[in-house]
Amino acid sequence: MGLDITWAVDWVRRSAQVISEHRVELITLDREIGDGDHGENMDRGFQAVLPKLDDLAAGSTPGDVLKLVATTLISTVGGAAGPLYGTAYLKAAAAAGSAVSLDGPAIAAILTAARDGVVARGKAETGDKTMIDALTPAVDAADAAAAAGVDAAGVFAAAADAAEAGALATEPLVARKGRASYLGERSAGHRDPGAESSALLLRAAADAAAA
Ligand code: ADP
Ligand code: MG
Ligand code: MG
Repeated sequence: MGLDITWAVDWVRRSAQVISEHRVELITLDREIGDGDHGENMDRGFQAVLPKLDDLAAGSTPGDVLKLVATTLISTVGGAAGPLYGTAYLKAAAAAGSAVSLDGPAIAAILTAARDGVVARGKAETGDKTMIDALTPAVDAADAAAAAGVDAAGVFAAAADAAEAGALATEPLVARKGRASYLGERSAGHRDPGAESSALLLRAAADAAAA
């Protein structure tokens, strides 16, 4: 079954919930290799989206919801993650277009567009210890699942599994982008906070799709 507006709104609600639950963890991770604000930034952003969900016009699409998330994150999150996640959701919204329901291949295309947007904006490569190290494995897993005929919920489940593994695998890496790169070799031995938040957001999408 395809994923519709009900799923999209549920994803945002679950995202706000999971980011708030992991706020302290994201702050702690960012304190190790950054400036300690990632949990606060993301929590502020998603809490700001929640009241706006009530103002969505009748007949809104998943793409409209993704666009609402994008504009809100851009104006409220700040730092590196605000513009990067804002771009991700904006590109995702464009890929979703005006579709009322998103199937497996559409989800894979949306995730690809989001990841490509982050790369275009932040220029991070795989292994640079950023959110890309969660997003690219997620895109690869989503593509493979969609090509195998897995439904939209299964595509998100595969993406979330791969993102979690990717986020864990950032621990030994030396950061080459963002604030953590200022630490050089000392950035190794800590998970990247942005990779962690990406994995949380994809798990929220998968959970909403399975609900
Ligand atoms: P800031 O570093 O400005 O305080 P945040 O703490 O909110 O911003 O976000 C930090 C996260 O942003 C990092 O953990 C990393 O995943 C991500 N990030 C930073 N720079 C880049 C980049 N150039 N490309 C992709 N992701 C990046
Ligand atoms: Mg920070
Ligand atoms: Mg900061």
